[in-house]
Amino acid sequence: MLADIGMDVGPIMKFYLRRELDEAGVQIQVSNEVCECRAGKFVCRLPDGQKGFYEADLAVLAIGYQADHDLFEKVRKQVRETYIVGDALHPRKILEAMRESFDIAQVI
Ligand SMILES: Cc1cc2nc3c(=O)[nH]c(=O)nc-3n(C[C@H](O)[C@H](O)[C@H](O)COP(=O)(O)OP(=O)(O)OC[C@H]3O[C@@H](n4cnc5c(N)ncnc54)[C@H](O)[C@@H]3O)c2cc1C
Repeated sequence: MLADIGMDVGPIMKFYLRRELDEAGVQIQVSNEVCECRAGKFVCRLPDGQKGFYEADLAVLAIGYQADHDLFEKVRKQVRETYIVGDALHPRKILEAMRESFDIAQVI
């Protein structure tokens, strides 16, 4: 459902990535919301709001993560010093998780 592919990839890497995808004949569809899957067909909402259909015999779901803070809130009620870092805060990259862990370690 994102507006482009590789939005967190640097421009040089993205250039080569796109070239390889083009060479492999990959058709890129962005801003499509998958609404339904039935009998080898995916029903999507297209950027203009219309419905579109894609046929597929294999699907790889890579639709991302969302942090669930329930456990953190429960622990925080019982443990005075409780911190949340990394993907538990917001799913991102290893560098952010390491940076936040390092910062918290400095104040403990
Ligand atoms: C498929 C995939 C590819 C990725 N590729 C990259 C990449 O190329 N570069 C990059 O920078 N980032 C990448 N990431 C993101 C990166 O993996 C995360 O941002 C990073 O691992 C976050 O670190 P973290 O310590 O917050 O969480 P995690 O590394 O997920 O560590 C959390 C740990 O907590 C454990 N745990 C969970 N629940 C409990 C519980 N109730 N009790 C005890 N332990 C528990 C888990 O088993 C896990 O070991 C990728 C992520 C995925 C899913």
